[in-house]
Formats: sequence, C-alpha cells, structure tokens
Amino acid sequence: MSEDALVRRTRIRIRIRETGGVPEGDSVWRAARRMSGALVGRAITASDLRVPRHATADLSGQTVTAFVSRGKHMLLRTDAGVTMHTHFRMDGSWSVLGPGRRLPRALGGDVRVALTLDDGRTAVALRMPVVDLLRTADEATVVGHLGPDLLGAGWDEAEAVRRLGSDPARPVVEALLDQRALAGIGNLWAVETLFLRGVFPWTPAGSVDLGGAVRLARRMMMHALTHPAQVTTGDTRPGRTQWVYGRAGRGCRRCGTPIVLRKATGAAYQRETWWCPSCQPPQRGTAGRPATPVVVPVVVPVVVPVTVPVTVPVTVPVTVPVTVPVTVPVVVAGA
Ligand SMILES: [Zn+2]
Repeated sequence: MSEDALVRRTRIRIRIRETGGVPEGDSVWRAARRMSGALVGRAITASDLRVPRHATADLSGQTVTAFVSRGKHMLLRTDAGVTMHTHFRMDGSWSVLGPGRRLPRALGGDVRVALTLDDGRTAVALRMPVVDLLRTADEATVVGHLGPDLLGAGWDEAEAVRRLGSDPARPVVEALLDQRALAGIGNLWAVETLFLRGVFPWTPAGSVDLGGAVRLARRMMMHALTHPAQVTTGDTRPGRTQWVYGRAGRGCRRCGTPIVLRKATGAAYQRETWWCPSCQPPQRGTAGRPATPVVVPVVVPVVVPVTVPVTVPVTVPVTVPVTVPVTVPVVVAGA
C-alpha cells in the first residue's frame, strides 16, 4: 500500500472509530448527532443500498429531515415519509466522506449503504447488520417495543423501574440488558453499574434497588455523551477507564480479588458478564447464582496465588487479630 493510501485509510479508520467505543446508547447517540449535523437539510443525489431486500430502492431526490437514535437503534428520516432504520450491533458504523473522497478499496466490501449528498459528501454505513427501509409512520414496528430511552428527551424513570421489576425473579443483569425494559444501556454500563452498586449480577431483580441502579447508569451515560471515553472509574488513562468490564483474571481495582467472567451462553439477553466476587457477593438467602458454571479464564490460576495471599492478609485478617488479642489481654490483666 502506498504511503498516501495508508494515510487515507488511517484517517478513515479514525473517523469510523469516532462512532464507536462499545456500541451502547451513548456512542450510538453521539454517532446519530454527528450524522444529523452532516445530513439534515441535505438532498440525496444518489443512493446505493447493498442489502438484498432493498437493493433496488432509490432515495435520490429526497431530503434528510432527521437522524436520531432510539436506544441503540438509528432512524434516518426523509421528506418523502421514508425512514431508514439501522443498528450497529457490535460492528457497524456510519461515516461521512468529504467531497471527492473515496473509501479505501479494502473497505469496499463492507459498504451496506452509500448516500451521496448535494454538497458532494457521501454518508457510508459499513458492516451494518441491520438496514431497513420503512414508512416513517410505521417506525413503531422497529422501535415501538423499546422501554424508556435512558438518553431520550422523554425519559421516564418510574416506567423503566416498573418494567425492570416486572419479573422479580429474573437476574438483574439480564433485566438491565433487556431493551424492552430500558433502551440504550449495554453490557459495559450494566456490569459497571452493578459493580459500583455492589450487586451480584444474578441477584433477582426484585431484591435490587432498581431506581438507584438506573439513576447511576444514566448519570454515567449522560456524562459519556460529552466525553470521549466510556469512563466509570473517573480515570481516563488507557486501560484504567473501567472497574470490571473486560478485566477477567485481573485484580479488582478496589480490593485486589481477581475479576471473574461468565461467558455468554447464547440465551436471550445474555452477554459476557464480569464481576468482583468480593465487592459483589451473592445475597444470603437468594438464589443468586449463575445458571451455568462460571468460566474461569486460564490466567486465573496464575493470578490467584499471587494476588490473594498478599491482599487478604493485609486487608481482612490483619484487622481482626490485631484488635481482638490486644484488647482481651488488657482486660484480663486489669481484672
Ligand atoms: Zn473487589
């Protein structure tokens, strides 16, 4: 690859990554806002939809009137009463190419949508797993099932809490990830919220302070709208931004205990789940246990002997022996 092509490709990669981070409500909201700034009010002069269902659709001549997010879904609307519904899932992205700019050939196979605008720029959807065209009047068929949108203008905490608790026996981590209860939250915010609340992920939703959890998740996500990284620790340095997400086998930033991971099993709403067994112990008397065996990463056996003996004697046992033996002899001697 020539140096020029490499530079171009790097620039485009960077631009694509701007829509990313982990594709959760906040990063989707930011992507929609950025796309809205580029597209709204612009006429589409040519459209190319590379999805079998809509391969012959033609949006040319239509003007973009809105580009909004609903939870993790995105809706592009035109003045012809047409909505293009897209969803990143884990890998998709929206990007805008300046006039005369072309995608590197290597990315050509990833294009799902290309919309040429009347100012010469091109909006491109890459690797987008969901691309649908529908009448704007029918948007409820693709987003009507969603619960209150954590980042939406009509946020309704009481309704979100009601929906989250509607099946009180359900593990709280699954309830939080159910977009029918709460739209926009994803795995990162769910596991980080549970860590910060000290809640074991498989605690029944009915025994969790759902209002407190939802308020915390929303506060962190709102903060992320105006900051470049998805930070829950307050530390923006690379590799330090989260407490448990993606940190299997590494020491808890609070207590040193190795973070545990349970991999997704493929059931509805299940994702990989990380937690600290010390900071998030199961509640006594609840059936708060993972439904399937915990998958302990290969690195854990190596980490455990090193981390635990060092941390535990310092934090827990040292306190107890020092307090008890010292106090008791003094009392006995005085008597
Ligand atoms: Zn911990």
